[in-house]
Amino acid sequence: MNLALVWFRRDLRLSDNPALTAALAQGFRPVPVYIHAPVDEGDWPAGAASRVWLAGSLTALAADLDARGSGLVLRQGDTLTELLNLIDATGARALFWNRRYEPAVARADARIEAALRARGLHVEPHNAALLAEPWTVATGAGGPYRVFTPFWRAMRQRLADLAAPLPAPTRLPALPDTVDVQPLAALGLEPPPHEPRWHAGFRHFWTPGEDSAWARFQVFLEHGLDGYAESRDFPDRDSSSRLSPHLHFGEISVRRMVAAVLARDSVMAGQGSERFLAELGWREFSYHLLHHFPDTPETNLNPRFDGFPWAEPEPARLRAWQTGRTGVPIVDAGMRQLWASGWMHNRVRMIVASFLCKNLRYHWLHGARWFWDTLVDADLANNTQGWQWSAGTGADAAPYFRVFNPALQAARFDPDGAYIRRWLPELASVPTRHLAEPWQRPDLLARHAPDYPQQPIVDLKASRDAALAAYAGCR
Ligand SMILES: Cc1cc2nc3c(=O)[nH]c(=O)nc-3n(C[C@H](O)[C@H](O)[C@H](O)COP(=O)(O)OP(=O)(O)OC[C@H]3O[C@@H](n4cnc5c(N)ncnc54)[C@H](O)[C@@H]3O)c2cc1C
Repeated sequence: MNLALVWFRRDLRLSDNPALTAALAQGFRPVPVYIHAPVDEGDWPAGAASRVWLAGSLTALAADLDARGSGLVLRQGDTLTELLNLIDATGARALFWNRRYEPAVARADARIEAALRARGLHVEPHNAALLAEPWTVATGAGGPYRVFTPFWRAMRQRLADLAAPLPAPTRLPALPDTVDVQPLAALGLEPPPHEPRWHAGFRHFWTPGEDSAWARFQVFLEHGLDGYAESRDFPDRDSSSRLSPHLHFGEISVRRMVAAVLARDSVMAGQGSERFLAELGWREFSYHLLHHFPDTPETNLNPRFDGFPWAEPEPARLRAWQTGRTGVPIVDAGMRQLWASGWMHNRVRMIVASFLCKNLRYHWLHGARWFWDTLVDADLANNTQGWQWSAGTGADAAPYFRVFNPALQAARFDPDGAYIRRWLPELASVPTRHLAEPWQRPDLLARHAPDYPQQPIVDLKASRDAALAAYAGCR
């Protein structure tokens, strides 16, 4: 039986894995491989929180492969060198993988593909991450979409015709004796034992891996989907799916999720379904944009803002934003949720981003870089799109003149203050009606929360006016 390497990447699952299925279908004995190669990621190697998740996800994948009689071969270093070493060690005749879409990675993939084909190897890339390859979706004029609604209208029509998800193999052939699997610790993904255990709390919130992803999705389908459209904006309700890190690492297939939502709708159509599908559509749109506008992780999609007068960050203020000490409770609650759990609710991501880009007027890249290091779901496509949207510089972005008022946002989306109190326990006894803008009652704030900043680090009204004036200069 000929051997084939199956190169796992952001597809850390066995079900609906086109590369693995194709290798088996073509009669190959698959050798599952993961290579840790931060250099392939260009300026965006995985951040600290992502690496912690990745370690958990690889552990789960290795266990799933072991349970089926195979195993996961781990390597680190230069990808092409490692693949060639494994090809030599195993005598593999073919390489199967699922594509990635980050510009630097896609360029590295193209080099690897060309080098291996030149050696006569059979190389087969597949799509495991997206509903449609970004180059197959185009406007009537043949170009890429820049506006979500028409993009999604075109994509939504295709959903009924998606190919059925592929089942996971029940048994796999054993690994050849000629390769050792190497221990996960050799990849250096988690902080060394002598460093602060900042990630110790993550396990209270998350369990990486395919089984856990699917279980979370089942619970969401059963209990969350119907109320999703009404509840998703309320950060204390736990009403969104929280599948973003599982989706990012490919522990769950978006195609399989869509098939499950459509199948459920055929028996009991619910309002939440369309809204949830549209959010998966935003993910798809973000990948479409990243593919067609590969410079956007660092440059404005809308060049009109290239001359925008961003403020030079003051280190103390930037630090206050990062650590949840701005004195604006909904912003601080979000930043503390991020630090403690590696995740932040979408509504609050928009609020903290607006505060950074519009009230502080710091370039959106300062926020994107911090999120990159601290989010377990840090994803170059979604993060870039989220930050550019929030800053007003992106596709279909929030208009620059719409500056979120964080106090009004808190009053509306956290009306009883449960979210703020959860993440800012020092404000627990501040009466609810003052919780959104406690600085308006300095007497109460000093009494109830003497250790919390007594004033916001920036005047919300004056900074809003300054941002609008700066915007007017860019029109
Ligand atoms: C400034 C900013 C930065 C962001 N950075 C990231 C990031 O690095 N990684 C990331 O996955 N998401 C990012 N998002 C998008 C969004 O906040 C998260 O996807 C969402 O909060 C994840 O929670 P969930 O899984 O419960 O989402 P759900 O509401 O359950 O949605 C289901 C899935 O749809 C996708 N999705 C939902 N909303 C969006 C969106 N606005 N844009 C793109 N995809 C979306 C995600 O994959 C998500 O898991 C960012 C948003 C903003 C405003």
